[in-house]
Amino acid sequence: MIVGGGFAGASTAWWLRKFGETDSLILEREVGPGMQASGQNAAMARQATQDLFITRLLAEGVRFLATPPPEFRAPRPVLRRLGSALLGSDAQVGKLADVLRRAIPSDEFEIGPAANLATHPYLSGIPAPMALYTRSDGMVDLDALLSGFLRNTDVATSCAFLSAARDPDGWTVQTSRGDIRCYTLVIAAGAWGNLCGSGAGAGLRLLRPTTRHLFQSVRGKDFCRDAPFVWDTAAEVYVRPDGGGSLYMSACDQDDCDPSAPILPSNRIQEILRGKLARAFPALAAIRYHRYWVGTRTLSPDNRFVIGPDPRTAGLFWAAGLGGHGVTASPAIGRIAAQSILGLQDPPPELSPARFEK
Ligand SMILES: Cc1cc2nc3c(=O)[nH]c(=O)nc-3n(C[C@H](O)[C@H](O)[C@H](O)COP(=O)(O)OP(=O)(O)OC[C@H]3O[C@@H](n4cnc5c(N)ncnc54)[C@H](O)[C@@H]3O)c2cc1C
Repeated sequence: MIVGGGFAGASTAWWLRKFGETDSLILEREVGPGMQASGQNAAMARQATQDLFITRLLAEGVRFLATPPPEFRAPRPVLRRLGSALLGSDAQVGKLADVLRRAIPSDEFEIGPAANLATHPYLSGIPAPMALYTRSDGMVDLDALLSGFLRNTDVATSCAFLSAARDPDGWTVQTSRGDIRCYTLVIAAGAWGNLCGSGAGAGLRLLRPTTRHLFQSVRGKDFCRDAPFVWDTAAEVYVRPDGGGSLYMSACDQDDCDPSAPILPSNRIQEILRGKLARAFPALAAIRYHRYWVGTRTLSPDNRFVIGPDPRTAGLFWAAGLGGHGVTASPAIGRIAAQSILGLQDPPPELSPARFEK
C-alpha cells in the first residue's frame, strides 16, 4: 500500500506493476491524485544542478519523459523539449555545465551569451552575462504524466491514512474509510511524510516541508509559447511560458511550513518576486499578476531524495524528500523505490534512509 497519490506514489506504483507486482493500492486523502505539490508546480524538466548524483537521476527522468517505454501509455506526449537557459556568470554556468557534461551527451547543451535570449522581447536587457542552454530540457504535461503512471493502478481517493500497526503478517492500516490489511507500507506523502511515518511508528522525522509560490501573469502578446524556461541562478528567480499566452514566475522562495495546518499563500512573496524580476528580467519589472498560489517542496537534510526501507521498522518504505525535482526525476524515483520494495536491488546509499542513521 502506498500512501500518497503524487508523482512519488504514482511512479512507484507504475514501476511495481512493470516489475510484476499487480496488487498495489494508493491511498489518497484528496478527491483526486496529484492535487498537492504534484499539481501545483512549474512543470519544468531541468537537468543541470550542482549535484552530479541528482543530475544523473534527472537525466534518467528526462529520457523517460521524452521517450517513454512502450508499456507507459499517456494520453498525450509528456515532454515538450523547448529547452532551458540557466543564467549566471561565466563561473556559475561553467560549473553547471561541468556537471551536465558527465550526465548527458555534449550536443544537448552549450554555453552562450545570455543576450541571445533578446529575440524574445520580454527577455531583453537581461544583465546576466552568460547562459547554459540545455536543448533536452523542457516542459512537462503534468496531467499526461500522472495519467500514464496511474493507468491500471487502484487509487482510493478521499481516503486518508491515519495510522498503521505492524504484526508478524503485515500491517493493519487505519484509514478514514476503515481498516485495510497490507504486507508492505510505502510513505509517499510529500510534505505529510513525517506525520504519516510517525503514524506507522517510524522513528525517522527527517523531512523538512517548505513552501514555494508560483505566479501566473496576465496574458501578453510577446510571451512566446515556445520559448525556453529561463532561470537566473544568482538572483534565484525563473520565468517560463505557460503555453496559453501567460508566464509562470517564481522567486524561488523557501520557508519552513507546518503541514498539519492549512498552507496559505503569503502577500510578502509578491514584493520579493517584483524585486527579483526588476534585477534579473528588467523587461518584466512592471508585469501584472493574474493569480498566484503556494505549494510544498519537501527537503531532506542533504537535499537528496529519501528512497528505500526504513532502517528501524520492518515492512515500511519511503519515497519522499523530492524537493524541487519530483516531476523531472519521478521516473527514476519510482524505479528505485519499486526495486527496493520488491527486493530486486537495494537503493543507492546516497538515497537510502539509512544514511541518516550514521
Ligand atoms: C511551486 C513549485 C514549483 C515546482 N516546480 C517544479 C518543477 O518545475 N520541476 C520539478 O521537477 N519539480 C518541481 N517542483 C517539485 C515537485 O512538485 C515535487 O517534488 C513533487 O510534486 C513531490 O511529489 P510527491 O508525490 O512527493 O508529493 P505530493 O505531490 O505532495 O503528493 C503527496 C500526496 O500525499 C497525499 N497525502 C498526504 N497525507 C496523506 C494521508 N494522511 N493520507 C493519504 N494521502 C495523503 C497528499 O494529498 C498528496 O497528494 C515544484 C514544487 C513547487 C511547490
